[in-house]
Amino acid sequence: MQHHFDILIVGGGLAGNCLALALKDSGMQIAIIEAQTRKQLYASPIGDRALALAAGTVNMLDALSIWEGVADKATAINNIHISDQGHFGKTRLSAQQQGLSSLGYVISARDIEDHVAHLVEQSAITRFCPARVVGVMAGQDAIHVSLKEHENSINLTASLLVGADGGNSSVRKLLDIPQQISDYGQTALVATVHSSLAHQNTAYERFTPHGPLALLPSADNQSAVVWTRNHQDAESLMSGGEADYLRQLQDCFGYKLGVLSLASVRRAFPLSLIKAQSMISQRAVIIGNAAHQLHPVAGQGFNLGLRDVAQLAEILLNQYQNQQDLGDPQLLAEYAAIRQKDHDKTIGFTDNLIKIFSSDWLALAAARNTGLLMLDHLPWAKNILVKHATGMAERLPRVGRKR
Ligand SMILES: Cc1cc2nc3c(=O)[nH]c(=O)nc-3n(C[C@H](O)[C@H](O)[C@H](O)COP(=O)(O)OP(=O)(O)OC[C@H]3O[C@@H](n4cnc5c(N)ncnc54)[C@H](O)[C@@H]3O)c2cc1C
Repeated sequence: MQHHFDILIVGGGLAGNCLALALKDSGMQIAIIEAQTRKQLYASPIGDRALALAAGTVNMLDALSIWEGVADKATAINNIHISDQGHFGKTRLSAQQQGLSSLGYVISARDIEDHVAHLVEQSAITRFCPARVVGVMAGQDAIHVSLKEHENSINLTASLLVGADGGNSSVRKLLDIPQQISDYGQTALVATVHSSLAHQNTAYERFTPHGPLALLPSADNQSAVVWTRNHQDAESLMSGGEADYLRQLQDCFGYKLGVLSLASVRRAFPLSLIKAQSMISQRAVIIGNAAHQLHPVAGQGFNLGLRDVAQLAEILLNQYQNQQDLGDPQLLAEYAAIRQKDHDKTIGFTDNLIKIFSSDWLALAAARNTGLLMLDHLPWAKNILVKHATGMAERLPRVGRKR
């Protein structure tokens, strides 16, 4: 069995698997360590969440030859409607007005996660699965990684370790990277609803005194609901009957889509912002949710994670072609410096959105109401918002065959 790899990736979720696929044709020796089998991941209730993918994300997935396998399972977002419950202010963004074919897409997390896992399985990438990382020690020339696969202990070395093992990252802990946790005291309630009126590819984002509510257009005239409530409300909405849940949902959302009925079970995801204080350590880097777990209100988590993947792949491919050390501290520092700006901007945008729209303070409510009204009449301001919503405000790194 091979024991040394150029790159060892811990975590075969979207971030880890997309990175492996971005590097797979480079000649690098790559291995992925994943704790759960594909069957377990597919069956996990976590897969029930819907992901809103920015247009920039879809371009990157396309360049990595991932999108073509899931495009028929995705629904285009052609319009976004943002409103504030109990206030006049609202704004609408339209792909057509912006000269775009769409503002993004909605896809079930399970569909895209399973597809990338399938592509990795078909490739020459080595997989340790189900296996867990239990120890990490960085040395001068390589990083040493111990894992448990079934009852076996395996010791591996690599030029670079990539932690892509999610919000509760073991790699982050083993590397002693401190983290900052902000508990929003909120839970996201996720479900799929059917509506009596057609959604016409419109995504709705509605800010309410109880928390933000999003309805994202999905296949078969269904919409994916992401409803954020405080823990207590969420618990009572989960334990109450379906009729009570639908009545309260309809009260919050109104009748823009007619009468709503449940098309799935309800799931609850407690929310917190987890931010690692550093993205890098000696011969190691953390990406995706391992580096930043965001509130889903703005649908930015995976979009941000994929930009980590693309940037890391770009600098690693370049370094490998130049036959330079993949764990060079200067290279890792360069990566972290490039990514920091995007992290700060995206995390700040999401955090501010929650704070501004959860405030009951009258002056703030008036300001955001005026803001939404003004935005609706200012084409240049809308252009800026669209650029952020579609991920086009960022410089997209060059990866994959189609670029
Ligand atoms: C309700 C909700 C709605 C969301 N909506 C959106 C949205 O609309 N748009 C968007 O862009 N994002 C959204 N997100 C965020 C998005 O789901 C995440 O950002 C993304 O899935 C994170 O991917 P990841 O690969 O970084 O981490 P994960 O998906 O957590 O993957 C980590 C992997 O590592 C494995 N692992 C963990 N520990 C170990 C270990 N010790 N050893 C080996 N393997 C290990 C796990 O089994 C897992 O497979 C949403 C999230 C939630 C909760």
